[in-house]
This record gives sequence, structure tokens and C-alpha cells, in this order.
Amino acid sequence: MTRVGVIGSGFGGLAVAVELLRNGHEDVVLWERSDDLGGVWRDNTYPGSGCDVPSPLYQFSFAPRRTWSRRYAPQDEIFDYLHEVAASYGVSGRIVYGRTVVRATWQEEDARWEVGFADGTTEHVEVLVSAVGQLSEPRIPGVTGLEDFTGTAFHSARWDHSWAPRGQRVAVVGTGASAIQFVPHLVRDAASVSVFQRTANYILPKPDGPFPRWYHPAVALERPLFRSAGEGFSRGLDDGSKVAKINKAVSLGHLRRQVRDPELRSKLTPDYPVGCRRILFSNNYYPALTQPHVELVTESVTEVTPTGVRTPDGAEREVDAIVFGTGFAAQDFLAGIEVTGRDGAQLSKQWSDGARAYLGVHVPGFPNLFVAYGPNTNLGGSSIIVMLEAQARHIRMVLDRMAELDHRSVEVTAAAEQVWDRDVQNRLERSAWAQCDSWYRHPVSGRITSNWPGGTRPYEARTAELVPEAFAWE
Ligand code: NAP
Repeated sequence: MTRVGVIGSGFGGLAVAVELLRNGHEDVVLWERSDDLGGVWRDNTYPGSGCDVPSPLYQFSFAPRRTWSRRYAPQDEIFDYLHEVAASYGVSGRIVYGRTVVRATWQEEDARWEVGFADGTTEHVEVLVSAVGQLSEPRIPGVTGLEDFTGTAFHSARWDHSWAPRGQRVAVVGTGASAIQFVPHLVRDAASVSVFQRTANYILPKPDGPFPRWYHPAVALERPLFRSAGEGFSRGLDDGSKVAKINKAVSLGHLRRQVRDPELRSKLTPDYPVGCRRILFSNNYYPALTQPHVELVTESVTEVTPTGVRTPDGAEREVDAIVFGTGFAAQDFLAGIEVTGRDGAQLSKQWSDGARAYLGVHVPGFPNLFVAYGPNTNLGGSSIIVMLEAQARHIRMVLDRMAELDHRSVEVTAAAEQVWDRDVQNRLERSAWAQCDSWYRHPVSGRITSNWPGGTRPYEARTAELVPEAFAWE
């Protein structure tokens, strides 16, 4: 039987493992570098952490839950949910913890991958699936003096729970999807909070609310509703669309209602087309910034002193803690793993101008390697879980065919990958993302490598069918 090794046990790894196990592919192992499953939902434990996609949609279609406490579930509930899914679908026992993959090498003669781990050991599998995610490597910018800071400093995805914000003077660097969730919580307890914003974001109100017991039977009905809303929202990411205009008007109206001070409001008003960076959702971020002990700073932190942070004008703010909500090394797909394919092909070299893959899953030159949440499969609207399930199904169909026809290896053709990539990039050219810089783009080439240009339905349609001619079967 074909042995399948999956790297990672977050939503992606579980999606693939469940799909394989439910369809007769039993020899599956998941390698997890940490001591628990859950991926980003294990790591992002900052106060206020939760999903800004409604839970009826941000869950597996095969494991609907009606007992979410509210429409936008908090992190701990999503984390519990992942544990439940892993247990009920027979995945838990297949996860090996503390196994950090650092190397994977295709061995042509045996048609298998040799997988190397941080502890120097190796294992062999016929099929390798990367499910390491796009947002698993926290990034702290290199600021002079940080190592000599005498207070507490950490990244939001590595929250220091031994530190209590009560009475502390805090600097927050970054104002993305994570920061807007934890800033209101810091503001509640801290003595002062200085939020360092480099770029203002468009923020929409969040239609959040508790799901009382009597409402549980109706929770499932929200899925198709939010699914359709997500498809519409995705259309709003096409350059100049009507939905984009609505998003902009609603977002600026939200800002006007929540922030009365014209100076603060002006700092919070984005100066770029709506949608070209991630649109955020929050009801409590703007109000937090209007508190008297909170300051929004639009200058950058150029230096950290032992007791504070300094801006380019030379001013120093004394702080007890610095929290970095500065995001992730999103462009380093499969970061930290040296992948060598057929004829010594290096994945990092092949992707030096930005990652690319047929369907976001299959890479020419790398037989029997599949990538979940790979290049150009991230979304600006809707739920990534829908995409992961589509990828898992496609991987499973490929394995079905291999088993059926007794193939020992499969590899996407360079031609099929090129046609796919050209089409995706052409469509991305017409999207809002082409209008500005963001973590969706490769830092050097500028290629948009993170996002899928469109809704989840067209992606599902493209992945629902296995096109045998797109692959070389051996
Ligand atoms: P992010 O969106 O990349 O935001 C990072 C923030 O740090 C930005 O404001 C960025 O400014 C700033 N920054 C980065 N480097 C900086 C530097 N050297 N100096 C000053 N500021 C700097 O990161 P994130 O908030 O952690 O979110 C990452 C992604 O995770 C999200 O886009 C989303 O996909 C996902 N996420 C999802 C949820 C959810 O509810 N579903 C919640 C959290 C995160 P610029 O904007 O100027 O670059």
C-alpha cells in the first residue's frame, strides 16, 4: 500500500488525512513539529484571537458543528473543534509530535521520498503532502536595539502568557488582522498603549453575535448564506467593481461613526484602492483607539532602546512591553524544508521568483509531492477550509488513479502548469491586488503568489475533475 506522509496537522493536514482515510487510503502518517495539532489555531492564542470568517462556513463541510458559542468563534473553540475532528475521523493516532521536517529528497530508483528530520533521522514515503500553511512562520522586523530591550517583547503568534498587561505601558507594532483583535484587549488592561501603524486598513463591521441554544438548529442554514456572501465579496476584489465601491463606502461610514476626532480619523483612512490588501472586520478596534490612554502613531519604530522605542524624529516613548503584530513570512512557501525533486531540482530555486503550482497543488519536477494551501490558493473573501477540502479531494483522486492503474509516480507536466499559471496571473492582473503592495506579493518579483483570483466555486469546479493529460504517469 502507498505510504503517505503529511507535514503539518492544522486544518490543511487534517483535511487531507480525513479525505484519504475516508476513501481507503489507510497508510497515512502526519508529522507535526509542535507538541499539539491545530496549526495557526494552536499558535495564535493572543487575547481576542478568533476567526473573522463566520464559523458555519469556517468549518469542515463533513463535520458541521451547531454548538459554536457565537457566529465568529474564538480561537479556543476552533482549536477544540480540530481536536474533535481529528479524534472522530481516526487522525489523532496517526500524528507524530515533535517531528520537524527539514529535508525531502525524491529517490528516483525507488520512486519515493526520503524525508529528513531535525533530529537527523529519516523516513521514506511514496507520497509526500505539504500542509505547512502560508502563515506559520512569524516575522519580527529587524529593529536596531531590540536584543537589548529590558522589557517584554514577543510576536502575537507566540503570545507570552506569563506577562500580564495590567498597568503596563505597551507598544504595538503592526495593525493587521491579528493586531486589530488583540489591541482592544490590551487597551482594557494596560496603563497606556501606543499603536504603530504603517498602513491604514479598510475595516468593515462584523455581524457577530452569540448563538443561543434555541438557535443551534438554524446554524447550518447560515452556511449557504455566508458561502454566497463570500462569493459576492470575492467579486468585490475585482478592480473597480460595484461591490468594491460598496465595501469602501461601508468601511468609511464605519470609521466615521466610530471615530469622531478628525485627526485620528484621517490617520485611519486608507489611501489606496479598497481590497488590494486584506479587508478587516472589527467592531471594537476603532473604539479602542479613541480611549484617552491610547495613541495611534504613524511614524515607524526605527530603534528600540533598553527602555523604550524611538521614532525617526528622535522621540522616545518609554514602554514596558513591545508586541509585534507584524505578520508572517508568507512568501516563503515550505520555509525551512529543503525539497529536492527529480534530477536534483531544488524547489526553493524553482520558486525563487515566487511559488507557483498547477491548481496550487502540483509542481513540475516534483513527483508524488502535493501541496495543500499552496501558491495562489489563499482568499480575500470566504473560507479557506472550502479550498482545503477541494485540494484534499483532488489529491485523493490522483492517489485513486495511481492505485487503480498501478502507477508508481505522477508528476504534473510543465505545459499544464504553465497554462494554469498564465491564466491565474492574467486574472490577478485585473484584480484589486495588482494595485498595491501587500504580503500577497513576492518581495522581489512582485508576483502575486498567495491569492486565488476569484471565488471558491470556480476553484472547486477546476479541482473537481482530474485531467489525466495534465500529468505524466509512470
Ligand atoms: P499582517 O496582516 O501581515 O499585518 C502585519 C502588520 O504589521 C501590518 O500592519 C504591517 O504593516 C505591519 N508591519 C510589518 N512589518 C512592519 C515593519 N517592519 N514596521 C512596521 N510595521 C510593520 O499580519 P497579521 O495581522 O498577523 O495577519 C496575517 C494574516 O493572517 C491575515 O492577513 C489573515 O490572512 C490571517 N489572520 C486571519 C485572522 C482571522 O480572523 N481569520 C486573524 C488574524 C490573522 P503594512 O500593512 O504596512 O505592511
